[in-house]
Amino acid sequence: MSIVGTRQNPLRVAIVGSGPAGFYTAAALLKAGRKTGRLVTVDMLERLPAPFGLVRYGVAPDHPKIKQVIDKYVNTAQDPAFNYLGNVELGKDLSVDELAQSHHAVVVCTGAATDRRLDIPGEDLWGSHAATAFVGWYNAHPDFCDCTFDLSQEAAVIVGHGNVAVDVCRILASTADELNHTDIAEHALEALVSSRIRDIYMIGRRGPTQAKFGHVELRELGGLEDVDLVVDSKDLILNSASEAEFADRSTRENQKNLRTLKEFSCRPIGNGGRRLHIRFLESPVELGGDEQVNTIVLEKNTLKGEPFHQVAVGTGERLELNTGLVFRSIGYHGIPITGLPFNARRGIIPNEVGRVLDEHHHVVPGMYTAGWIKRGPVGLIGNNRADATETVNALLSDVDKSDLEIKPGGQALLPLLAERGVRIVDYTDWEKIDAVEIERGKTREKPREKFTRVEDMLAALD
Ligand SMILES: Cc1cc2nc3c(=O)[nH]c(=O)nc-3n(C[C@H](O)[C@H](O)[C@H](O)COP(=O)(O)OP(=O)(O)OC[C@H]3O[C@@H](n4cnc5c(N)ncnc54)[C@H](O)[C@@H]3O)c2cc1C
Repeated sequence: MSIVGTRQNPLRVAIVGSGPAGFYTAAALLKAGRKTGRLVTVDMLERLPAPFGLVRYGVAPDHPKIKQVIDKYVNTAQDPAFNYLGNVELGKDLSVDELAQSHHAVVVCTGAATDRRLDIPGEDLWGSHAATAFVGWYNAHPDFCDCTFDLSQEAAVIVGHGNVAVDVCRILASTADELNHTDIAEHALEALVSSRIRDIYMIGRRGPTQAKFGHVELRELGGLEDVDLVVDSKDLILNSASEAEFADRSTRENQKNLRTLKEFSCRPIGNGGRRLHIRFLESPVELGGDEQVNTIVLEKNTLKGEPFHQVAVGTGERLELNTGLVFRSIGYHGIPITGLPFNARRGIIPNEVGRVLDEHHHVVPGMYTAGWIKRGPVGLIGNNRADATETVNALLSDVDKSDLEIKPGGQALLPLLAERGVRIVDYTDWEKIDAVEIERGKTREKPREKFTRVEDMLAALD
């Protein structure tokens, strides 16, 4: 046993997942090390060869400014105490025990990669998809590059009123000119350019006061080329509980949304190439069709309950929309990792300020979590910074209270991974893949042409 953080016994931390939470955790640890003179090393594991999680594979291609946050992550990655182990999946290539044995602490930042289901009849018909799959497909995520979406349909329905639903609507409604020079996957661009979709419906079960989309995102819909917005002014009439919610400062974003929706509802409906219908107080109850969806049945809702606790209650009034393409976008959900506690209902790793808790609510020594897998799929990229700092503070305070034995860190994992035939992608390898993608993009006047398959990324190295 010796004091940890010295040259003889550096603090060795493994971070699992290279999204915002992983990178903010790494940055906070390395910064704390510099500030306190403590020697810290970070090994970051990522199941894909490419780093940056949803910043690369979630943020919409027509939002390049948001992706500039990657520059900050690159600074962190260039710290000599930072080591990237891409193409290594915890739970598959390496067990939690193996990782814990080689490090003083493990911080799990694996995000929330799957979607919540609607749990209605017909949900598994062809043509009914998770928004997760569509987003992954247009962003060239290797897990989704073989997905197909029937864009020959005249109408598409997106269930959900969050920013991901808005992204899906915007991408479906965009013209070739709006997408051509983005980093959208080429297969998606080709399919979207010949899309026949004319009506796009974004449907939410509650009213405009409860919608989760941001004002900037909503406004952006109003600026799309060749798109008419259809909003029924009757949907914008608030009940008394919603009026009370509106009087509260915390709903400022929704107040701005309501003003914008009112403005949309007054716009004339012209001959725009596409119509985007933003609808409230409707829940899907069934998808109809034999093999492929051909209708969605919606039930009209009313809101019941106290301000801020209002729930949507079906009125029994039903209506039907003809559509062969439905996307559910009602929330993301974490995936369990063998060897780690998991709260299946919430889709998170149970924790207390980032310290992982077992089924008896006892702290699992040396095991931490940050980001969406810690607190659930809410919040923007920047929100993961404070969240990661909270976890790092807990970790450092635990380390301060203990004498810990010397740990070998990531180096000890290399023979094990080699034996298992895992081709580790280190940060220099990633820089090579990055350079090839940027080069491939040049001929198409795109910032990059992403690889869509792991094999192709590895082939670019070998
Ligand atoms: C579609 C979409 C669009 C968004 N757009 C915006 C936006 O425009 N602006 C904004 O501010 N926020 C946006 N967000 C929110 C933002 O992306 C999240 O706040 C943030 O990505 C969460 O960070 P994270 O690190 O917890 O998870 P993630 O970004 O999901 O990172 C998790 C990482 O862990 C890796 N991983 C998972 N399992 C394993 C394993 N077993 N072993 C090793 N690695 C593993 C994954 O491959 C991934 O790289 C968007 C979210 C979504 C879903």
